[in-house]
Amino acid sequence: MSFKGEVEARCPHGCQPFETEVWSFIRGDASPELRASLLARECNLLLCPGCDKPFYAEAPYVYLEPAAEILAFVFPESCKKQAARWRKKMREDFLAMRKALGAQLPLDAEPVVFFGPEGLSELLEAEDFHREETDVMECVAKGLGLGLYRVSPSYARKERMPAVLPCAAGPRGRVTLDDIRAGLARLLEANDALGAFRDCLRKLEGKAGRLPPPAKALAEGAADAGGGTRRQGRPFPEEPDVLLSPEGGSGSPAESACEPSDRGLRTSDGEE
Ligand SMILES: [Zn+2]
Repeated sequence: MSFKGEVEARCPHGCQPFETEVWSFIRGDASPELRASLLARECNLLLCPGCDKPFYAEAPYVYLEPAAEILAFVFPESCKKQAARWRKKMREDFLAMRKALGAQLPLDAEPVVFFGPEGLSELLEAEDFHREETDVMECVAKGLGLGLYRVSPSYARKERMPAVLPCAAGPRGRVTLDDIRAGLARLLEANDALGAFRDCLRKLEGKAGRLPPPAKALAEGAADAGGGTRRQGRPFPEEPDVLLSPEGGSGSPAESACEPSDRGLRTSDGEE
């Protein structure tokens, strides 16, 4: 479920301000069309009724994709001048969110902060790129009778490795690093064009190689033996109001450029 909030939009060319709705909370898995608009750099892109020119709304938004362990706070580019202040605010809001949601928050990873739309778009592009190669791997692995081991997505992003690895273990529970190495070796014998998996094997063969932490859903268990099913996203409370606490105290006039947009995160009128 994604939500919109009302903002007063101000065209950078000095035209008359106007009221409009912009996205303030985006569930990437539940709203694929919004995810696509982020990739196209068109999310919260407004058209000024005065001069017909496009511009980005000066409003922050939260992006959440639980299965991929992505939680991003996207602030307007203009807030970059006060990056430290906004990072601090994000941190407070995140802690409040953890407190409110506790174990229901399916994320170990720290949220990421972006100023302007570019950073999140690039992150999603990289995700999609890896997903394509992973889809090919899954197909080859299935043909070879290999299982799949799902790595914690945020760990995989940090270590620049695929989030799903082939695994030579049978359906017998615990997966070891040797099972993964053997799975990767057999995969690459069958298809040596899977570059990300070759790099991964090299990394895991190194002296410091160790079993990457599993994705949350697998924390107690094992790999999906013999191909398995895709991991499903778990339920997440559809309550974006708890995401951001009201700002305590008022900012100085100099800070107010970013203030109105704060409203956008707390309102939740529109929804999809
Ligand atoms: Zn204008």
